[in-house]
Amino acid sequence: MIHTSENMATIPEQEPYIQALHTSWYKPFVYTVDMLRLDVIHPIVSGNKWYKLQHYLSDATKKGADTILTFGGAYSNHLMATAAAANQHGFKSIGIVRGLHSKANLTQTLQDCIALGMQLHFVERSDYDKKNDTDYLQSLQAQYPNAYIISEGGAGELGVVGSKTIADYIPKHYTHICLSVGTGTTLAGIRLALSEHIKVHGYVPMKGGNYVQETINAYLPNSLQQSYTLHDDWHIGGFGKHTEEQLAFMNSFYETNNIPLDMVYTAKMMMGIAVQLKAGCFPQEAQILCIHTGGLQGNSSIQHKLIY
Ligand SMILES: *Cc1c(COP(=O)(O)O)cnc(C)c1O
Repeated sequence: MIHTSENMATIPEQEPYIQALHTSWYKPFVYTVDMLRLDVIHPIVSGNKWYKLQHYLSDATKKGADTILTFGGAYSNHLMATAAAANQHGFKSIGIVRGLHSKANLTQTLQDCIALGMQLHFVERSDYDKKNDTDYLQSLQAQYPNAYIISEGGAGELGVVGSKTIADYIPKHYTHICLSVGTGTTLAGIRLALSEHIKVHGYVPMKGGNYVQETINAYLPNSLQQSYTLHDDWHIGGFGKHTEEQLAFMNSFYETNNIPLDMVYTAKMMMGIAVQLKAGCFPQEAQILCIHTGGLQGNSSIQHKLIY
């Protein structure tokens, strides 16, 4: 994979669209299950990350920054999206990468970030853990005075504002919106943008992931704090982990629906939904829209086991 500033097409390469899942996947349990394909905006840039970043970038321009600095692990969709977005908008970019070991053996993600002009700085986990500490952020700012700093995962108020625009792609007839949750930023934005009677279900791929609720609620008025449901039963061993059963599910989902899922987020969400459908968790008349948030670049380590 080579993506340089010269041959990287403008994002979005393609506008998001809604694709119906094959009826065999959800009949006779509910009326419809469709998928909003945010993944199609770019093969390696996660759909939701792109929308989350937009308001940070305008703010960076407003503040006269010439560099975007952010944080991520060796497989981070956010780092990848930031490298691409900064490149497209004419910013330099710096990625603070978790773990010194990542330097010796660059993942495809990190190689792609470098190809997009991102400068990588590898830090020990103990330093990386300070990523939200005021002192550490001030020292980074002093080191890079022209940099605009974005939190890990694009988390934060402007990320929520950016995520609201995803709701523009959601037609009003859907009764349930399902999406994957990491920092909760995307869910918060979508929840704020949709009318209250539409149910929102978030699937958290972290063990004990219900803690995200606190973060999400901080973005929501009291009246909306009971208006979404988090499910953390489908972490499949933990964040970033996968099983043979999951790989089989991903291949079978692709065969049935012609949609590639990513192993960290969307595959686990759809595995959860498949179980919930059979268990009768959704009403018969439900019209469900699942959001494909992208993340396909994160499949590089298991690509040889996938049929797509
Ligand atoms: C980051 C990410 C999420 C989670 O988004 P948050 O706004 O952090 O909750 C979901 N899906 C994919 C593919 C992602 O890359």
